[in-house]
Amino acid sequence: MKARIVTLPGDGVGPEVTAAAVAVLQALAGHYGHEFSFDEQLIGGCAIDATGEPLPAATLAACQQADAVLLGAVGGPKWSDPNAPVRPEQGLLGLRAALGVYANLRPLQVHPALADLSPLKNERLQGVDVLFVRELTGGAYFGAKTRTDDTATDECKYTVAEVERVARRAFALARGRRKQLTSVDKANVLETSRLWRSTVQRIATEFPDVKVEHQLVDSMAMLLLSQPSRYDVVVTENLFGDILTDEAAALAGSLGLLPSASLGESRVGLYEPIHGSAPDIAGKGVANPVGTILSAALLLRHSLQLEAEAVAIEAAIDRVLNDGPHSRDIGGQAGTQDVLDAVLQALDGYA
Ligand code: ATP
Ligand code: MG
Repeated sequence: MKARIVTLPGDGVGPEVTAAAVAVLQALAGHYGHEFSFDEQLIGGCAIDATGEPLPAATLAACQQADAVLLGAVGGPKWSDPNAPVRPEQGLLGLRAALGVYANLRPLQVHPALADLSPLKNERLQGVDVLFVRELTGGAYFGAKTRTDDTATDECKYTVAEVERVARRAFALARGRRKQLTSVDKANVLETSRLWRSTVQRIATEFPDVKVEHQLVDSMAMLLLSQPSRYDVVVTENLFGDILTDEAAALAGSLGLLPSASLGESRVGLYEPIHGSAPDIAGKGVANPVGTILSAALLLRHSLQLEAEAVAIEAAIDRVLNDGPHSRDIGGQAGTQDVLDAVLQALDGYA
């Protein structure tokens, strides 16, 4: 198949990890006879430096016409002055809003070879395989904000339609997995959570084969650490999702390992590793490319419907995490290129 992929390497380690993921996609296209074209565009700090804007119009236009967008990371100390007129992060928030990607998917698995890096004991980590679905374009992040000298407010608002679409997406994903959905809210206190819960409950009737449970966010924070292997798909609102997914990421051992996909109604998905621009290691060739390479696998699965190709990448990564080489963040000595070479070699066996 033919596909147009826009790459947004961004700042810090972004270009290093994006280049690795592109190399994997190119190798895969060769194996399977696909024609992928790559169109590199500016976003974040490097875009501010070049154009004065964190999300140049040319970047947005290219993304809107693409089949999928692969992003590295944005931001860094050079652009972190809070009083600056434009900031790199505005580029990413603006892109998410413009693409309407309301569902943020973050799969979490704990690789047995890396269990020592996790704060939890081995037996609790066995079989952990959770898919978080975080609502990404509503709630407190987008509500009205007010501020006087001694009072501040952040409005948290959800409509039934906003909850329905993310709930349907989560149920559909659960249907393709172990058919269990956990919906997380704070329905004992918050009105938005009561609307969330009743809406999820109603959508559940469309998916009678999926088992639903509701958890309060405070208990869920605890259960994720005490019984992480109990969960299949977890759906929650924007703020709770932000916090719970970072908590869950700690279980995997390194930020450098985890991918994400942000999806909306249109076909264009946005794929990026969960880590930031890691300015402390940028330009040194030591960043772990695994989170970005796994994001490329999600791109193949969710935007291009190339499931076998996605599985081939995941199998190659699994092999490399098992046999090495390992980058520094997971206790090894390997650089980005060493890990990439090993993934490409493993891919030969799976693709
Ligand atoms: P942001 O504010 O952009 O989300 P952050 O504050 O969460 O960024 P990161 O940039 O993700 O921070 O970096 C946090 C730590 O994790 C740093 O020490 C960084 O070097 C390390 N780190 C992040 N990504 C990687 C990676 N791909 N490989 C190795 N180490 C990484
Ligand atoms: Mg962060």
